[in-house]
Amino acid sequence: MARVFNFSAGPAVLPQPVLEQAQAELLDWRGAGMSVMEMSHRGKEFLSIAEQAESDLRELLGIPPNYKALFLQGGASSQFAMVPLNLLGGKTKADYVCTGHWSKKAIAEGKRFGTVNIVANTEEFKFTGIPPQREWRLDPEAAYLHYVPNETIAGVEFHWAPEAGDVPLVVDMSSTLLSRPIDVSRFGVIYAGAQKNIGPAGLTIVIIREDLLGHAGEQVPSMFNYKVHADNGSMYNTPPAYAWYMAGLVFQWLKQKGGLAAMAERNQRKADKLYAAIDGSGGFYRNPVDPACRSWMNVPFVLADAALDEAFLAEAKGAGLVQLKGHRSVGGMRASIYNAMPEEGIDALIDFMQGFQQQKG
Ligand SMILES: *Cc1c(COP(=O)(O)O)cnc(C)c1O
Repeated sequence: MARVFNFSAGPAVLPQPVLEQAQAELLDWRGAGMSVMEMSHRGKEFLSIAEQAESDLRELLGIPPNYKALFLQGGASSQFAMVPLNLLGGKTKADYVCTGHWSKKAIAEGKRFGTVNIVANTEEFKFTGIPPQREWRLDPEAAYLHYVPNETIAGVEFHWAPEAGDVPLVVDMSSTLLSRPIDVSRFGVIYAGAQKNIGPAGLTIVIIREDLLGHAGEQVPSMFNYKVHADNGSMYNTPPAYAWYMAGLVFQWLKQKGGLAAMAERNQRKADKLYAAIDGSGGFYRNPVDPACRSWMNVPFVLADAALDEAFLAEAKGAGLVQLKGHRSVGGMRASIYNAMPEEGIDALIDFMQGFQQQKG
C-alpha cells in the first residue's frame, strides 16, 4: 500500500490513524456485530457515538452552553440559504463581506431572500486581500453580518474577527474550522461543510447561539429550520450517521494531538515554511496574496512560466504529491494543507519544488 500526500482542497486528506480505526471497526463496531453504517440512528450504540462526538467538538472549540451544535446534511451551500431563512426574522437586510468565490455564492443566495448590503468587496483586486474593518460600510439595521474567514480558492484568511456590535456575526468556516482555537462567543452562527478539515463529505456542522433559533417564517421547510434540528438533537430525520462517526474519530485524534492550540502552532509552522519557500524562489514561484492575510490552510501559487505547469503537476504526481492543480478560476497550483496534512508532506513538497526549479529554472 502506498499512500500519497494529497493536497486536495476537498474532499481532503483524513488522518491516517482515523482511517485505520474506521477500517478496524468497519465490520463489527465494538461488539455490535455490524458497521456504523448499518445501525439505527436511534439505537443506543449510535446515540453514544453521536453524544461523544458532540461533547468532543464542544470541548475542542470551547462551545459555550448557550450554543447548539448541529450535525446536518446539505453542505455549506445549503447554509447560504438557511442563514437568511432563519436569521432575517422581521428584518429585510443583511450585510455581507465579499472576499472571494464562496462569499459571492453566499451573497447570490442571500439575495433571494432579502436586500444584501456588500460592506466591502475585493473582487477588483482578484481577491488577494482583506480591507480593514474601518473601511467597511456596515448597516446597523442588518439582521446579520456574513463573511468567509478562509476563502478556500484564493487562499485569503482573516487572522482577526470583525466587531459587529449587536448584529450577529455569521461565518462560513468550511475550510478553517478546527485549524486553530476560536472564541465561539464572538459569533452568532458558525457553519462548515465537513470535507475540508473535519471528516467526510455529507456532514455539515452548524454552531448556533440559542437566541437565534425560532425566527424562521411559517413557510420555511422543516429541513431548513434550525430550530427543528435543534429540538430534535439533529435527528429530525436520518442524520449523516457514518460521516458523524468519522468526524467523531477526527475529534478524538485532535484531542490526542493536543487540541486546537497545538494544531494552530503546527498549522502556522507548516504554512510559514511553504510561503517562505515560495517567496524565496526568486520569482520562480509566486503567491499573490497580501502577506497579512495569507491562508494557513490553502496555499495557491503560480509558476512564473505557466508553460511549465503541466510538467510540474506530472512530476509532482510521480513523486507522490497529488491534487496540486489550482482552481480553474485562478489557474496555477494550490496546496491545501489542512490539519491532516503531516509536516512531512510539506517538507516533501518543498523539496520537490526546489528540485523542479533547479532542473527547469
Ligand atoms: C467547499 C466550500 C463550500 C462548499 O461546500 P459544500 O459542502 O460543497 O456545499 C462553501 N464554503 C467554503 C468556504 C468552502 O471551502
